[in-house]
Amino acid sequence: MARHDAEAFHATEHDQPATELGDAVRRLHEEGRYATALDLVLRQLRDVGPSEDAFFWATTLLFTTQHATGPDVAEPVPRERRSNPYFAPVATECAACARFWFSSHPALANVRLNVANPIGVQCQSCRYSLCRACYDPADARCPEPGCRGTLGVPVLPTGRPQGSPANPFTEKLEHVLILWRNTPVDREEAEFLVDLACTWQDRAGIVVRSQVNQADERDGETSERRMGLVLVGLYERLGQISEGGLLERTRVVPIMSPGHGRRLVLVTAAPETGPASQLSGPVRYLLSDDEDSENGDGIGGSAGAGSGRRRRWFRRRR
Ligand SMILES: [Zn+2]
Ligand SMILES: [Zn+2]
Repeated sequence: MARHDAEAFHATEHDQPATELGDAVRRLHEEGRYATALDLVLRQLRDVGPSEDAFFWATTLLFTTQHATGPDVAEPVPRERRSNPYFAPVATECAACARFWFSSHPALANVRLNVANPIGVQCQSCRYSLCRACYDPADARCPEPGCRGTLGVPVLPTGRPQGSPANPFTEKLEHVLILWRNTPVDREEAEFLVDLACTWQDRAGIVVRSQVNQADERDGETSERRMGLVLVGLYERLGQISEGGLLERTRVVPIMSPGHGRRLVLVTAAPETGPASQLSGPVRYLLSDDEDSENGDGIGGSAGAGSGRRRRWFRRRR
């Protein structure tokens, strides 16, 4: 019998919420500034890593703002923000359709559970979960082979193993290269892609770079990947990635970016020792080829890839 909570965060009894984060989040929550409050929590998870306090506030915000979209809400939480992989450990995912939701338990354990009309149900022994649309109330037996549990409430987090699995890598990052095809990558999308491809990896002081993918589309993904890897090798030769980065520490993650099309993200981890393992400070975004120099420090958000000065490392085959 499988257990369905492999990705979930297992909170112990929560008795001491974070004071500093808690004060800030509580104030923003009272003002209806839910999106900003959730951003604070996201930043804490990115910078400090998973913690009971951060997940307590994430769950509280994501649960209480689930239906807060009216005109009197100053800042509703956009749907894409809810699907950020940093919140996956406190989400519950439907085993049938991969829809996910946030449950009041365990963050609001002292609030009476809404048993009459739950968003979904869960096997009380293996956490197999079904959303309301996929659940047949006439049959409460757990569908998991070998499990004799019953579907019901409370519903605890399962993580999102089908939707956006949390990245299993946890090492320090050194360099991220994003290749694009038709629309250039801006700062907001770059953050989204790094969240998705590099969840839980320490990104302090790293360079996030984006470049146009000049491999011929007709040659397929293998040649696109090869072009990315050649670029990583080039940055290694230029000393911008530490030795062995290309062969030992780079992985390629293809991502369909909503509204922007396919991106190829090449993630290079930092070596265990040496200067790159000690990187600190803010992330440097070099998102257009014109800024692709050592002087392009910290410039983000400009999508100047249309400019004619684009360097061509590769000539297209015709
Ligand atoms: Zn479902
Ligand atoms: Zn079960």
